Amino acid sequence: KKFSEYGVSEPIVKALEGLGYTEPTEVQSKVIPVALSKTDLTVKSQTGSGKTAAFGIPICELVDWEENKPQALILTPTRELADQVKEDLTNIGRFKRIKAAAVYGKQPFAYQQAELKQKCHVVVGTPGRVFDHIERGTLNLERIEYLVLDEADEMLNMGFVEQVEAIINKLPKQRTTMLFSATLPENVEKLQKKYMTDPKHIEI
Ligand code: AMP
Repeated sequence: KKFSEYGVSEPIVKALEGLGYTEPTEVQSKVIPVALSKTDLTVKSQTGSGKTAAFGIPICELVDWEENKPQALILTPTRELADQVKEDLTNIGRFKRIKAAAVYGKQPFAYQQAELKQKCHVVVGTPGRVFDHIERGTLNLERIEYLVLDEADEMLNMGFVEQVEAIINKLPKQRTTMLFSATLPENVEKLQKKYMTDPKHIEI
């Protein structure tokens, strides 16, 4: 089945074709319809399964281009992953002119601050730096509707649990949350119970 049969619109399908994605991977075919219906999701899948596009496609589809404040927040365990996710979202959303910003530690605040000041639909970042931007008032969360916890098990292994919870506590309650993890240990289950509403479980 083609992407269009899963509810993906023409500008996104065209961008996916440009990337050489002609049909969805398994995780994408399962996640896209559920995410488009704004249902919370827990996805157990490995890297390499196409998980980035599994959340990237519905996010690019759902964000409103006209809105200037960020609408989606994606937390990742590492800087490298944050950059990769930003690049993938920019590519997927190119015909909708979706703007994504990446924020992470060990890079000066000034550049990231400037990026966040401009129109930006999606913010991708590591928990420590995302929290710093919230505290400094340089990241506005009022319009966040979509939260992705990417590689949640890794993020908690790296000791980010407090920052992740502090960030979630600052987000609007009315939102869709998607959690992606290769494994579902107790600390990930706990996060899910605490911050997600009747999540649908998808396992690849
Ligand atoms: P990920 O699991 O998100 O790290 O993706 C793994 C690799 O699969 C990346 O190199 C993607 O560019 C590629 N990929 C993702 N979705 C598709 C698709 N539908 N068709 C072909 N390649 C894909």
